[in-house]
Amino acid sequence: MEKVITSITEELIWAIPLLLFLSGAALGSYYITYLSRYKAGMTRKEILNVNKKGACFCFTCKARLTFKDMVPIYNYIRYLGKCKYCGVKIGSSTIVIELGVGTVFLVFGFWMVSLL
Ligand SMILES: [Zn+2]
Repeated sequence: MEKVITSITEELIWAIPLLLFLSGAALGSYYITYLSRYKAGMTRKEILNVNKKGACFCFTCKARLTFKDMVPIYNYIRYLGKCKYCGVKIGSSTIVIELGVGTVFLVFGFWMVSLL
């Protein structure tokens, strides 16, 4: 039994840095969404209500984004930094923050492991 668990752990060890990075990127994406809504004049309460419904949308064309449209980094690269629906340019700060927070999570994870 113990051997099986060790084997699974060894096979999936590569997924830990990936999960750390993706968690950070998702958090960075959330931060950018929150900040852009705040800058657009929404109150904190309005932002949290919209977030509860899971409704992400383009500020320009008001198209509601699907779950697939909200994958951090991947969609920015896939649509070359533009809205999939109307083509409006998305600021480069989006990908910078997603990559940055993802990297911080990754480095923090490795630092935590080095303490063991
Ligand atoms: Zn749009």
